[in-house]
Amino acid sequence: MILVSSCLIGLEVRYNGTHCLQREINKLVEEEKAVAVCPELLAGFSIPREPAEIVGGNGGDVLDRKARVMTKMGTDVTELYIKGAYRTLEKAQEMKATLVVLKENSPSCGSAMIYNGEFTGDKIAGNGVTTALLNRNGFSVISEEQFLRNIQN
Ligand code: SF4
Repeated sequence: MILVSSCLIGLEVRYNGTHCLQREINKLVEEEKAVAVCPELLAGFSIPREPAEIVGGNGGDVLDRKARVMTKMGTDVTELYIKGAYRTLEKAQEMKATLVVLKENSPSCGSAMIYNGEFTGDKIAGNGVTTALLNRNGFSVISEEQFLRNIQN
C-alpha cells in the first residue's frame, strides 16, 4: 500500500485552501492502492492557515530541535509540525506502507526541495519534517515529480 499527500489527490487541504491534483496519484487511491494523509491536518492545523517555512535547516534539523518552523507572521509552529510528522509515521506503520509519495517543496512533505525560510519563493535542497521522520524510520519517500517520472519511464 502506498501513502500519498492529500493535496495530490485533489483535496483542498493546502494552507490557502487549494489542492495540487495529480490524476495519476489520485488513480492510485481510486484503485485502492493508496491512502492519502495530510500531516498538517493531522497536527491540528485548520484550512486556511498561515504559510510556514523551515528556518535554519531542514526537516531533520527540526526533529533534532536545531531548526524551527515559523509562520510568515513569526509564530513558532515547530512542535505542531513534529506532531504531524509522528501522526503520519503512525499511519505509515499501521498500513505498512511500501512507498510514500509526498508533495515537493512543503515544509512537511518535501523530499528534495523546500523553501528557504525567507518567504521569498526561493527553494533550497532539503526535506520536510514528515519526510525526515519517515526516512529515519525506514520508509522510502519520493515526490510527485519523481513518481510521475518513474511511471513515464
Ligand atoms: S503538502 Fe503535505 S502538509 Fe501540505 S497540504 Fe499537502 S499533504 Fe498537507
